[in-house]
Amino acid sequence: MTLWILNGNVWDEASGGLLNKHVRVEAGQIAEIIDGANTPDTGSAEVIDAAGKLLSAGLIDMHVHLRDPGFEYKEDIATGTRSAAKGGFTTIACMPNTRPSTDTPETVKYILDKNANEGVVRVLPYAAITKNQLGRELTDFAALKEAGAIGFTDDGVGVQSAQMMKDAMTLAQSMDMPVIAHCEDNTLVEGLFFSEGEFARKNGLKGIPNESEAIHVGRDALLAETTGVHYHVCHVSTEQSVRLIRLAKSIGVRITAEVCPHHLVLSDEDIPGLDTNWKMNPPLRTPRDVQAVIEALEDGTIDMIVTDHAPHSAEEKAREIQLAPFGIVGFETAFPLLYTKFVLTGKWTLGFLLQRMTSDPARVFRLPTGRLEQGAPADLTLIDLNSERAVDPSTFASKSNNTPFGGWKLQGWPVTTIVNGAVVYSESAN
Ligand SMILES: [Zn+2]
Repeated sequence: MTLWILNGNVWDEASGGLLNKHVRVEAGQIAEIIDGANTPDTGSAEVIDAAGKLLSAGLIDMHVHLRDPGFEYKEDIATGTRSAAKGGFTTIACMPNTRPSTDTPETVKYILDKNANEGVVRVLPYAAITKNQLGRELTDFAALKEAGAIGFTDDGVGVQSAQMMKDAMTLAQSMDMPVIAHCEDNTLVEGLFFSEGEFARKNGLKGIPNESEAIHVGRDALLAETTGVHYHVCHVSTEQSVRLIRLAKSIGVRITAEVCPHHLVLSDEDIPGLDTNWKMNPPLRTPRDVQAVIEALEDGTIDMIVTDHAPHSAEEKAREIQLAPFGIVGFETAFPLLYTKFVLTGKWTLGFLLQRMTSDPARVFRLPTGRLEQGAPADLTLIDLNSERAVDPSTFASKSNNTPFGGWKLQGWPVTTIVNGAVVYSESAN
């Protein structure tokens, strides 16, 4: 079965602009990319007219919460992967804080099987570092790897014991697997929910101190240096963390890092009030921290952008601020948000944004996707860079709509998403 995508605008790094291209897809692979000046004989092939649209390798998101198994009222694999596809993502990596936690081969297999039956994008499961993510006992890394887990993390909570983390890294290193860390020292954050800064001060709240994150980054960077493991820092949000990652990278530690759109775009001073859609973990930090993570992403200290898509039900988010869960959804706003705030304003090239959402995560996690080239899997995203509309959370494909970006006027909306040569999302079909 042949698919032709005609007249797509493809980013060309050499010229720093867009080139018109036709792409032929065969058996789930990119078979050919030819200059748009040619007129291919499409014969009886399926044809997608991409004229006027950006054609990119499918976006990759290495940090998401699909809530399945156990919290299907927030999201499940069917809705979570449709939400991802609508946001232009073709590969997503899901966190293990499910119920049961993804700490056995059976749960890893459940996720992979359910995605094969009901999902629409590639789902890469992470497995827990410790049983039930309680920090007490390591999971069976070998069996989890065998079942299909791509790395180990207790995301949702930090691994509090340095010895436990060292043991995890030593074991992961011996089987060539990465350790991915949610960096948070519990003794510094107990009962707190907004960061230490202007907003907390104005509202008379004790804030989460920045060191709660950086203390783990520093500890783990030292352990990564000793063990030689590939260590990846989740959702970096502070200047101190950036400084430590930069230092560790400079001395050859195998450390990589990610940042979320909301930490690039919002600071604590943007929080409008005690609104639970602005409660996430890590919290929004000071404008100085925002500037630091932007610079770190620009200079490569931070390798990639992830959404930390964290759906919660309307009922949960309607609780009072102390009791509402942390987290916001992210798939369906990520690209237009960053395109509008950084590319349209001239701060980044389009190529830079795409790189941090496609080829960089693919490089760090050694994925076969994330490249728009002959022979690569046909995971592709078409984006209308000219379309502008307000974010309407009621239209999300996700089961949840907990976002602080409702009503924001954004430009650059994904219109078609293709995974393995098959259309999994099309704006015109919705
Ligand atoms: Zn986390």
